[in-house]
Parts: sequence; C-alpha cells; structure tokens
Amino acid sequence: MSKPSIPYHQPALGIGHEGNELVYLQEVLKTRQMMGDGPFTKRCHQWLESHLQTPKALLTHSCTAALEMSALLADLRPGDEVIMPSFTFVSTANAVALRGATPVFIDIRPDTLNLDENLVEAAINPRTKAIFAVHYAGISCELDALMDIAERRKLLLLEDAAQGLMAEYKGRALGSIGHLGSLSFHETKNIVSGEGGALLVNSAHFHDRAEIIREKGTNRRQFLRGQIDKYTWVDLGSSYLPSELNAAVLMAQLERAREITSARVEVWNQYYAAFADLDAQGRVKRPTVPKHCVHNGHIFYLLAGTLEERTALLAQLKAAGIASVFHYIPLHSAPAGRKYGRTAGTLAHTDSCSERLLRLPLWAGITAGDVARIVEVIYDFYRRR
Ligand SMILES: *Cc1c(COP(=O)(O)O)cnc(C)c1O
Repeated sequence: MSKPSIPYHQPALGIGHEGNELVYLQEVLKTRQMMGDGPFTKRCHQWLESHLQTPKALLTHSCTAALEMSALLADLRPGDEVIMPSFTFVSTANAVALRGATPVFIDIRPDTLNLDENLVEAAINPRTKAIFAVHYAGISCELDALMDIAERRKLLLLEDAAQGLMAEYKGRALGSIGHLGSLSFHETKNIVSGEGGALLVNSAHFHDRAEIIREKGTNRRQFLRGQIDKYTWVDLGSSYLPSELNAAVLMAQLERAREITSARVEVWNQYYAAFADLDAQGRVKRPTVPKHCVHNGHIFYLLAGTLEERTALLAQLKAAGIASVFHYIPLHSAPAGRKYGRTAGTLAHTDSCSERLLRLPLWAGITAGDVARIVEVIYDFYRRR
C-alpha cells in the first residue's frame, strides 16, 4: 500500500476554524466596494506599520510590483547599475532591467546564501545607484555592513524581503531597515493573500512619490485627503494596488502571523535537529542562522554533496510521494540574465549551491509524523550510498 503523498506547501488558511478569511471576504462583498484602498487595505497598512515599525506601508498586488516601485523611486535609468545576488528570484532583476538599468550579479556567502557583503564594494563604480539585499529563506543579510556601504558611497539600500515577514535583524523587522523594503504575500510565502505584496517606505523622502507611483502617476491620494482640489497626471506610475478582496484575506492572515510563523519555525526546528547527525557526518549541510538574526521558518533546505547526488535524492523523495523542490537557476547564467545583466567577480558559491540545494516540505500544520517520514527517507538514501 502506498503512503499518502506529502505536498511541498499548503497555505495556512484559517477557513472553517480559527481564521477570519471568509468573514472578511463576506464583509467586502456585502459592502460592494472591492476596489483598492478601502477599509481592509487601511487596516493592513496599520498592522504592517505598527508590527514592523515602519512609517509607511503600501499594499501592492505582488512583491514584484513593490520591487518595480522601488526601481521607479530609485529613478533608475539606462546605464545605471544595481548590485544584487545572482541567487534570487527573477523579479529582483526584472525590476531593474525594466527601467533599462543593469543588474550586476555578485556571489553569495556559502553559509547564509545571501549576497556577500564583502564583495559589494569591488562591484561599485560611478554608475552604481543601489544595492538589492535579498533575505534568502527569511534569514537576514548583513544589513549593518550593507547600510554602512550604502551611506558611504551614497547608494540606496533596497530590501527584497519577499521571504522575510516576521523575521528580524538585530531586533528589527526585515524590510523596515533599508531605504525601501518589499514583502510578498504570494500563496507560496508564509502569510498569503493569493497574490499580494507591500512596499515599506522607510525613508520619509519617498513617501509622497510612492503614493503617486502606486496611483498610476496621479496625485489622487492627496486629492482624497483634501490637500489639493483636483487630481492629475504628475509622474510615471502604474496600477500597483490590490483589490479589497485580497486585503481582506491578508488582514485575516496578518492577525495570525505570529501563530503561523511559530508553527513553521517548530517544523524547521524538527528538521534542523533531525539532520544534525547527517550534517556532522559531512553528508549534507543545514541552513546557517547568524546569532543576531531571527528567521521565520520560510524554507528548510539541505545542501547535498553534488548535483548528481541531489538529483538522485529528489528522485527517491518523489518515489516516496514526497514533493521536494529546488531553485534558483542562477540569474547570471539564465538567457535574460546574460542579456540584461553583468557579473562582477566569480560566482562559484552561487553555481555550487544552486546545484546542491533542495527544499523540504514545510507548512504550518504538517505533522511531526510526516516530517519524521521525510527525514527517514533521506537517512535511508545516505545509508545506501
Ligand atoms: C516570491 C519572491 C518574489 C516575488 O514575489 P511575488 O509576490 O510573487 O511577486 C520576489 N523576490 C523573492 C526573493 C521571492 O522569493
């Protein structure tokens, strides 16, 4: 008899039990006002501003949109450069390339898989405008070092905190530390609204322009606040705001953010403890969380020894009905990365880690028994090799 399969991810929707997702959706539908910036969007803004300690949060329809807003706010133009890891999701680089600017890919640290702060200065030249700090797996980049470079060299520090909600660097929320921060509420993230994101506008200097860019380049928000008597096209912009339906689901999720995060961290801890022996034997490497970082259990990954070993392990997990996945194809080696970006220095850790990384099933509510079964399949694989 085959055992039930274990999916890679399940969104932590509180439907039918502890959550308010359906209640809030009904509230929106009853009022017949589904367009953006209604009461639920405002509540989400307030929640993010108070919990993440940022002066201004703006919901967007995705983290991709928040990253694009960051690139517009940074005034990126053709010829400008933005330093970022090659080991990231495509949206970080697209935001830059869409402005006609050039993503400059540098290597990651082999411990946290975040961009190596020690390689940033060597990649800076007079065209450099910003640094994109991507917090992989909800584990923070070295933000003090990066902010120090940004201030000395007069660059913007932009956080791609798509994976970082509820994670911290030295007691501060990820996304709230750089000049601008982007969050994702995509269904595959920890806190979800189907598609969704937010821009954290940490630097007061950007507040007015961020509102304008999000409202199709108009000063509509100032108009609605009675600050001006007609609204008009004043800048570049697009429609970046989500509907109230998304905001309603998101608000219900945010109310349970602490609970969902701790449930994920518990699963992460179970994996971490279970693979201690295999790590000690030098067969796999577990994630590294620096002492001053609090992570949010977004991803539990292992680094296998080689690409061939990872391929065989993924096949064995699949045969056991366990969905495990890998990512990212390094952007510097992807067709669009070669066309729109350039590399600075060697990217040896990026290439090596992306060939050896596998992500194990993790969600709030996966049972300890399922985790134990996954662990057993992996130990069994290594015992036979
Ligand atoms: C998920 C993710 C994104 C994109 O988020 P969307 O909300 O789907 O647009 C961007 N960057 C990173 C690092 C991500 O993990």
